[in-house]
Amino acid sequence: MKPTVVDHIGIAVKNLDEAVKFWEGAMGIRCTGVEEVVEQKVKTAFLPLGDTEIELLEATAEDSPVAKFIEKKGEGIHHLAIRVENIEEALESLKARGIRLIDQAPRYGAGGARIAFVHPAATGGILLEISERSNH
Ligand code: ZN
Repeated sequence: MKPTVVDHIGIAVKNLDEAVKFWEGAMGIRCTGVEEVVEQKVKTAFLPLGDTEIELLEATAEDSPVAKFIEKKGEGIHHLAIRVENIEEALESLKARGIRLIDQAPRYGAGGARIAFVHPAATGGILLEISERSNH
């Protein structure tokens, strides 16, 4: 496994527009795009900051994982994403160590990344995303 950088930090919010207003207005971090990821039932806003970015997540349906997260824990940090050079290799390496995964194979993530989630039971309680980007 070759982790390279903290790709992004995902934050679950109830209202994307209001959250963007805070991060842009109060913090001066520009939002460079919004994308709806239909498969995960979320609308995502990207706010790059240095080598990493803040990813704001708003649920688009009641059964969205982000809606369930907010229901249980309230708004807040939802996941941490680590970028790797090769996601297949990273997943094989985790499987070989018996690490509990949510995704056995890569799937589509916001911004055209290929991603997979590692189960919080294996990471000390955080939802960990492994992400590979060809355009970075
Ligand atoms: Zn993410």
